[in-house]
Amino acid sequence: MTTLTITCRFPEDEVLSFEREDPDEPLTLRLVNQKGADAKLTVDKLVLATDGTRHTQSLVLRGRVTGPLGTMESILKLDFTGEHRDAMLKEATVYQKTKVGSLQGDVLPRFYGCFEAKVGSMVVTCLAMEYCGEPVEDLRHIAHPFRQNLLLAVRDFHKRGKTHGDLYEGNILDCHGHPVLIDLEFAEDHKCVIKMKIVTGAIRPTVEEYGCPELYELISERLGLWKTAVIRFCNQTFWKDDVTCAEHLLDNMPTGTGDEERHKLAEQAKLVFQEILKERRLTYGTEEVLPGQRRVDYLEGAHVA
Ligand SMILES: [Zn+2]
Repeated sequence: MTTLTITCRFPEDEVLSFEREDPDEPLTLRLVNQKGADAKLTVDKLVLATDGTRHTQSLVLRGRVTGPLGTMESILKLDFTGEHRDAMLKEATVYQKTKVGSLQGDVLPRFYGCFEAKVGSMVVTCLAMEYCGEPVEDLRHIAHPFRQNLLLAVRDFHKRGKTHGDLYEGNILDCHGHPVLIDLEFAEDHKCVIKMKIVTGAIRPTVEEYGCPELYELISERLGLWKTAVIRFCNQTFWKDDVTCAEHLLDNMPTGTGDEERHKLAEQAKLVFQEILKERRLTYGTEEVLPGQRRVDYLEGAHVA
């Protein structure tokens, strides 16, 4: 049976909310639900990576794991309360017993196993996996190749029959410019259907028109690749398809606006209208919105800046 031996004193002991007689004594955890070679993984030089993921209060530590394959910079996700044990066992199952697991070393970190130990009356549960870099900061400002690779990564994930379930910046790592997805506890069965190509800057389709809801949310809400159907001007919201001329945008100009301000707004309105026409050419192939073409169904979920 493979064991995981955590040899150094945990950082910030008070976070761990469990007492051991000698905190310097190695903590040995045993592999759960998995057959393993008779090998030890030893962890040292632990540092606190984060004090919990978005949804859980499990403790995430970074350390060096030494095992039969050498020494690897690793992540340990620990639960001392038992509250997140089920979620962690579920995550381990996704890595080990579903097709998604085949993405380890590429779109997913290499997973070393789920380990447990009884400490007094408490069960300590630990997921150990390869360290693959830090989370991305803002998906709306990531470089184009990363964005492209992220969409391919999620698509690869879906092709293996699961949604990730919690795609946001904190669960997307930048591994030397390559996206790696973590935190698989919310993964659910999924049959991916995509009905259209993603055209950056095109008007946002409806989720029904696009297909896959998780990719749709990533593209529209997180990456912001689609334009919305509405625009704000002079504190008023306009449907882009309704705007027939630049002056239309000035209809609601507050009374008492000075000449200079009025002139400035008129110039801005011209530029905004040019943008609307450009979008229209991209979307409809013409600057005119023909009867029956107006996309009222884009209303749903549209952002108002
Ligand atoms: Zn999908």
